[in-house]
Amino acid sequence: MTLPADTPQQRERATTIFEKSVPGRRAFVPPGLDVPEIPMSDLIPDRARRASPPGLPEIAEPEIVRHYNRMSRRNFDLDAGFYPLGSCTMKHNPKLHERLAGLPGNARLHPAQRPAAAQGALKLMWHLQEALGEIVGLRAVSLQPSAGSHGELAGVLLARAYHEDRGDARRTRVLTPDTAHGTNPATVSMAGYEVVKVGTSGDGGVDIEDLRSKADDTIACLMLTNPNTLGLFDRNIEEITRIARDCGAVAYYDGANLNAIMGISRPGDMGFDVVHFNLHKSFTQPHGGGGPGAGPIAVSERVAPYLPVPTVVRREGGDPQFDLDFDRPKSIGRLRGFHGNYGVFVRSYAYICSLGAEGLREASEIAVLNANYLLARLKEVAGDALPVAFDRICGHEFVLSGAPMKRDLGIRTLDLAKRLLDHGYHPPTVYFPLLVEEALLIEPTETETRETLDAFAEAVGAILAEAAEDPAIALHAPYTTPVRRLDEATAARRPVVRQPPT
Ligand SMILES: *Cc1c(COP(=O)(O)O)cnc(C)c1O
Repeated sequence: MTLPADTPQQRERATTIFEKSVPGRRAFVPPGLDVPEIPMSDLIPDRARRASPPGLPEIAEPEIVRHYNRMSRRNFDLDAGFYPLGSCTMKHNPKLHERLAGLPGNARLHPAQRPAAAQGALKLMWHLQEALGEIVGLRAVSLQPSAGSHGELAGVLLARAYHEDRGDARRTRVLTPDTAHGTNPATVSMAGYEVVKVGTSGDGGVDIEDLRSKADDTIACLMLTNPNTLGLFDRNIEEITRIARDCGAVAYYDGANLNAIMGISRPGDMGFDVVHFNLHKSFTQPHGGGGPGAGPIAVSERVAPYLPVPTVVRREGGDPQFDLDFDRPKSIGRLRGFHGNYGVFVRSYAYICSLGAEGLREASEIAVLNANYLLARLKEVAGDALPVAFDRICGHEFVLSGAPMKRDLGIRTLDLAKRLLDHGYHPPTVYFPLLVEEALLIEPTETETRETLDAFAEAVGAILAEAAEDPAIALHAPYTTPVRRLDEATAARRPVVRQPPT
């Protein structure tokens, strides 16, 4: 095939705002001073002042507006189209939540405000803690961690504090399944523990015999997610947590996949001690691009004394009623400055209140229904080239293997993902989980229509049919995006994220 010529957008070099700068141009000119001028040196001491002005861009308002507007259109986001990125729960973020988070009482509150003057915010945080505790069946909650991975670190530090407090110093290892999300082993190493992998059984769950043989008195913690990253609910979950507890370990539930089970089953009832939430996944905080997020944790009674400090508490008849409790002698300490990303709490609390218990359950049921529907449609259009890795009813996501596609059609999962961009879809997660060859992890979420799911399945079918005729088309895709194929290794290892002022 002959490759199509670059589009004007692709030819256009992305310029930075510094390159657009022309001395003397202004977006805003403040009115002249109408009060007596105070010398700068009276306001800020000389040693704290710059010798010369900072190299800020000088640019007119229309040019700024166009610059950022153009940049935003070069991106793909959830408001632009279907985003079935597995493991990320890219669900719709209701616009109502933005209104609430933007209310001055929420958006303008200073994080150093005294509790007595921040009762509304503390009340919201307290009620959010209560709701989250109820959802997972563990009553003691800290909102402090700022991401799922941060919640994981908190959880492993809690496990260490629990063992140390009991005078048990032998435990140096943490068990995680080989399907685990990359943050799990990374967290374990960061906390100074050794990772011990547990194998996966033929039905995609934890290999119980392997787990049993590794669960001994050197194990500090077992860490897993359920449904796991294959999208499969582990039917042996109670036995798994029993094995962990019997060997004296703390059982940690990675709650990133909570979207499959909200209102249906609770990790606390499955026997877990610590759960993290990804409010930016299951609870509608917009995400992608690195934040802000929130990864609150809920814990069992035996772990609660070690929770990060301060905790948000309600004191019956107290003044103030909602307060920060610093009096926690066994706490692992603070995990971050201030109290977490408060705007995230507002959005997630709004989501919980607007859906209610029934609505949360329905959200999960539809997420699971949508995933199973899309899986069935993809089996129809792509069953031979992209078979499902473990053929069971799935949770909110599922994994296909592109190995037959690679063998028979000569295109890889990466090529399929790139070609999907030309159809207007964000690609699913690729090459994860690691144990599935040429993996494609697809999560449609509950907020997509049947028409969207059908159209996506048809796009996958069309790409496979096209590849059967001419694999080169997919091999060189995408064609319609602002940039073509990137050198992803260099982009990840040597990102250029800062333009020095000219
Ligand atoms: C996203 C995810 C995490 C990490 O959460 P972050 O909020 O991105 O730090 C952990 N485990 C699983 C299964 C995930 O999908």
